[in-house]
Amino acid sequence: MLGMRSIVVGDIAIQALTDGRGQLPASFFPGLKDDRTIPVVTGAFLVRAGGHTILVDAGFGPRPAGSPHLPQHAKEQRHLAVAGPAGEPEASGGLPAALADAGVSPEDVDLVVLTHLHADHVGWVAPHGEPYFPNAEVRYGTPDWAAFIDSAGRHARARVALEAVRAKGKLRGLVDGEAVAPGLTARHAPGHTPGHYVLEVADQGHRAVLLGDVFQIPAQLADPAIGSASDHDRRQAELTRRRWLREIAGTGTIVAAVHFPDEPFFRIAADRTVEPISAVAAS
Ligand SMILES: [Zn+2]
Repeated sequence: MLGMRSIVVGDIAIQALTDGRGQLPASFFPGLKDDRTIPVVTGAFLVRAGGHTILVDAGFGPRPAGSPHLPQHAKEQRHLAVAGPAGEPEASGGLPAALADAGVSPEDVDLVVLTHLHADHVGWVAPHGEPYFPNAEVRYGTPDWAAFIDSAGRHARARVALEAVRAKGKLRGLVDGEAVAPGLTARHAPGHTPGHYVLEVADQGHRAVLLGDVFQIPAQLADPAIGSASDHDRRQAELTRRRWLREIAGTGTIVAAVHFPDEPFFRIAADRTVEPISAVAAS
């Protein structure tokens, strides 16, 4: 059963959007005792706050024309090895329809916050070098530029996208603790990538945290020592998971994880199990 797809935090509305679905082998997560393949979602969050329309992360991007390209598409991004059969219809490409269903046009989005610059988070920023959200400023953690953009090939999708936005003067770095919009605070949470950020949402005494890829699979809540092949600094990624567990577990704060398959929003109980959300409002 699918969990809640949207929540409100005071007057701020947050909705989970899906770009695609994939599978990862359990071996992708060192320390995970499981031999099944692990379902993952590639998604984004739509946040409406203080008259702003904000997208947090931007999916994996357009599905390449013709299924034979899919393995190449998957190969290019090291983070999410989409292991479905070539041409699997849902691997990516769903974000525009999800936005339209939410009543949002690309022109409406005035801010895109990227938790980090892995390819499955920047896919709709500027596919084929043309900004998809023409009116949006794009914010990101600057340490990721050296780690992923400078080192990428000239035609790598993330590089083409980010450079296109930069050329329009719409790209800007994040600062730890900065308010990026009313009620939205960016907090540096390095490890998965050096410039990884999470977004804290607070309004009228209510609070939620969009955790990006701090946790990629639910098993990491119970055992933060479980790593991920895509963690840039495995030790720091674990420290960051532990820090957020200390800050959040048992507090009733709603959190969201981009890749959790069925339950984008949840609470973390004091015993570090997932508590599904049954009410619309954040506590
Ligand atoms: Zn990711």
